[in-house]
Amino acid sequence: MKDSLVHIRNIGFIAHIDAGKTTTTERVLFYSGKNYKMGEVDDGTTTTDWMVQERERGITITSAATYCQWRDEHVNIIDTPGHIDFTVEVERSLKVLDGVVVIFCAVAGVQPQSETVWHQADRYNVPKIAFINKLDRQGADFFAVVKEMREKLAVCCAALNIPYYDDSGEFKGVVDLLQMRLVSFEGEQGTEIKFSDIPESLQAITQRCREEMLEKLAELDDELMCRIIDGKAVSGDLLRQTIRKYVLANKFVPILAGSALKHKGIQLLLDAVCDYLPSPEDVGQIKGLSPKGEERVRRLDVKDPFCALCFKVYSDPFVGKLFYTRIYSGSLDLSATVYNATRKTKERVTKILRMHANKQENINVALAGDIVSFVGLRDTTTGDTLCDEKNPILLEMIKFPEPVVSVAIEPKTKADQEKLFDALRRLAEEDPSFRIVYNKETGQNIISGMGQLHLEIMVDRLVREFNVSSHIGKPQVAYKETISRQAEVAGKFIQATGGHGQYGHVVLMMEPVEAGAGVIFENKIKGGVIPKEFIPSVEQGVKEAAQSGILGGYPVMDVKATLLDGSSHDTDSTELAFKVAAEIAFKDGLRKAAPVLMEPIMSLEVAVPADYVSQVIGDLNARRAKIGMVTERKVLRLVKAEVPLAEVFNYADSLRSLTQGRASYTIEPAYYDKVPGELVGKILGI
Ligand code: GDP
Repeated sequence: MKDSLVHIRNIGFIAHIDAGKTTTTERVLFYSGKNYKMGEVDDGTTTTDWMVQERERGITITSAATYCQWRDEHVNIIDTPGHIDFTVEVERSLKVLDGVVVIFCAVAGVQPQSETVWHQADRYNVPKIAFINKLDRQGADFFAVVKEMREKLAVCCAALNIPYYDDSGEFKGVVDLLQMRLVSFEGEQGTEIKFSDIPESLQAITQRCREEMLEKLAELDDELMCRIIDGKAVSGDLLRQTIRKYVLANKFVPILAGSALKHKGIQLLLDAVCDYLPSPEDVGQIKGLSPKGEERVRRLDVKDPFCALCFKVYSDPFVGKLFYTRIYSGSLDLSATVYNATRKTKERVTKILRMHANKQENINVALAGDIVSFVGLRDTTTGDTLCDEKNPILLEMIKFPEPVVSVAIEPKTKADQEKLFDALRRLAEEDPSFRIVYNKETGQNIISGMGQLHLEIMVDRLVREFNVSSHIGKPQVAYKETISRQAEVAGKFIQATGGHGQYGHVVLMMEPVEAGAGVIFENKIKGGVIPKEFIPSVEQGVKEAAQSGILGGYPVMDVKATLLDGSSHDTDSTELAFKVAAEIAFKDGLRKAAPVLMEPIMSLEVAVPADYVSQVIGDLNARRAKIGMVTERKVLRLVKAEVPLAEVFNYADSLRSLTQGRASYTIEPAYYDKVPGELVGKILGI
């Protein structure tokens, strides 16, 4: 690997499921010489879809990091999942990437999930290239997708190449609008690139598209505008520089055409990745906080002190835990210790691996700009900052959404109890959108995640990787509880039997807080009425009591408990007494502060032929849905709605029978809302 940062690209492919991300990644690895035999998704031999479940299900779940060499550039690639249940994986990949290639299907166009991932990339300010794939398919319409991108994504974009079909209608290659030549990809695997003149039949459209590209760029760049007005020539090099400038500034998105499956256009896509997407040097710096909360900046440079972000933990059955890490500054060699600024612990790295999907290559030093896997860390988890102990810095944490589906789980045999819990804990360490809680009321272990598929995969992994079989209950909606007004409550735990007694007394102010805030504890004790050493126990009591509410034992959300007052006893006060007193107060507070049951609301988009649209809307109305916009896409109608998860648990089956299998939908968690009064009793079984 070249040490200069200029030669590194950290990129990802993002798309709607089935748009061809895995196939494109596979082709990229092939053309860049990493893979000798090309993998095909359809027969389960691809390199990045490496978990057994992924191969069987034909979808990409875990972001596997891999890399390749193209021209002078070292390109690290993070494969990201397209299924909405794994949106957390997309978010955390975006956090550590410098640029993305967004893949669209030339037939399906800008699908709901393409919009979601596009907006996610925008949120992290990640520069993009668009690749319109599957141009070989019947019904492919390159220009319709470009138009749709402009309409739906409101993006300033233009094609850098356009598709070329031969007389028989076969997709053969592209017209390069920068060099103004025809590029065809020949040989069985498209490895022979041929350049030729643009055929007469394409002259007019080529001119139009080149003008459109120049126009879009000239709107952004005065210098280019003047050149064009003065009638001066615009060279390919000048265009490349201008495009790069505005891609890096996130103001322009170049569009490329191709077909991954038919080996067309991938080499030009790789050129574009190197030409237009940023190197770590372009990104320049990363901000974080010192342990005292002051702003700190690290230049993305090997000379700055070491800092890195662990963005994924994976328990590899052979190597042990792998910590996928993006190195931002400095370097780390094998002999050095590393400081985990999030956990405030020292760690030792025993191996540094460069990942090629599930194969690994040992290296001795990890340098700024790179993405590697560490082995040997003990306390580190996803989202932690690793840095130089003498120069501590805390990078921004990755935010994770609340899981919405839960299911009770128990081991098949009593003997497996311990093993099951251990395996679940390890899976939860890897994936922050997967949680386990023990429900005291029912004595059950409950696992929750982003959707049924997410939980199914986890249960599958228990068997395959950890060798524990389990029984699971019926998937349930992950309800939550919160409060709707303030209440001041006291909790006492006093026992004065015989010798050493127990004395804990707290007064809490409970109040609702904004959505997403979780459970907040604040200490406002004055004058030491509760000695300092007992405050953490009060907080622990609050947090534990919040794990199961008073309506149906569901976790409590968005509540603030402020410790206002209390009292202590010289000899009888203990940590336990204050913890229990806080639990009593918190539960009582929930009762007094008008508790409410909350349910996850999903945003749903159904794509359905016009003939069936009224049935679909009628059915959604019966499911307590709020119908939003209904728009047209060619022969389809897109119905947007917000609907409680409880009402669409087996929506796939209902939609299939309602539309004779002609509709499709995507769904994702949106927010939590109050369950309507008349349904609360039914849910709680009262
Ligand atoms: P992903 O879900 O985005 O990773 O998509 P895959 O790469 O798994 O592709 C989904 C399906 O589309 C597979 O059956 C592929 O063979 C097929 N596919 C991918 N690229 C192309 C293409 O360029 N043309 C055609 N016709 N099919 C493609």
